[in-house]
Amino acid sequence: YRVHVTAQKDAAGDINGAVAVFQDVTDARNFDQMRSEFVGNVSHELRTPLTSIKGFVETLLDGAMENSEQCRRFLSIIDAETNRLSRLIEDLLTLSAIESKEKSMRPKPVCMLTSMRSALNILGPQISEKSLRVELIYRRDLSYILADEDLLNQVFINLLDNAIKYTPENGSIIIRCRKQDSRLITTFTDTGVGIPHESLPRVFERFYRVDKARSRDQGGTGLGLSIVKHIVELHGGEVFVESEVGKGSIFGVSFIAL
Ligand code: ADP
Repeated sequence: YRVHVTAQKDAAGDINGAVAVFQDVTDARNFDQMRSEFVGNVSHELRTPLTSIKGFVETLLDGAMENSEQCRRFLSIIDAETNRLSRLIEDLLTLSAIESKEKSMRPKPVCMLTSMRSALNILGPQISEKSLRVELIYRRDLSYILADEDLLNQVFINLLDNAIKYTPENGSIIIRCRKQDSRLITTFTDTGVGIPHESLPRVFERFYRVDKARSRDQGGTGLGLSIVKHIVELHGGEVFVESEVGKGSIFGVSFIAL
């Protein structure tokens, strides 16, 4: 509780009483704590790649530049870390865009198939680079929902991006959409590394990674799934995941069908 105390004075100006107002600040305090935790996490996430970039630049300036093979290796690390930094900034901007849309979202009928195709187009190069087989199983007539188009695109991009990132070369990804009662359920099934049972409840948390090194190697920010969950819930939908280590994962989203 936050307590405000005001003194009561009589006509002569002497204090003859007090008024105490008790205000329940549990929610405000939780919010403040969450916010400062988030700022702490963001600062850490920004500092890590910066420290690494600075370290490699200094080593190069100190003479490593003369060895051209080493120089190339260091520059490619700097390049990867720079990409990760800009992805992190993009994800943070997406989070703030979602928060501002929360108040004034104007959903309209959006075709999930169109949105999915656009995600497949954007990630086409990564799919071919790893020689992945991607199958899309959809029925055209059941693919409309009420949504913000940009945000829906982001959901599919993030889920497909993860399926690609965590699946080894020559693996496969199957995207299915089915109608169940009044909901449209879309799932991404991959033949990737899988997620241990005990980590499943945490994968949608901000900055949670099962394997930090692997996420970093893949240029991950740790924000992708928390963005997915945030957007889906903003649309009254739900997210779910099933997985088996070494076999693969199924990530799914369900929305109310139009
Ligand atoms: P990241 O940027 O690290 O990929 P995400 O929020 O997108 O962050 O995902 C959180 C964590 O969940 C990842 O670090 C990874 O450990 C795990 N994960 C997400 N998608 C998959 C998947 N398709 N297969 C295996 N692990 C996954």
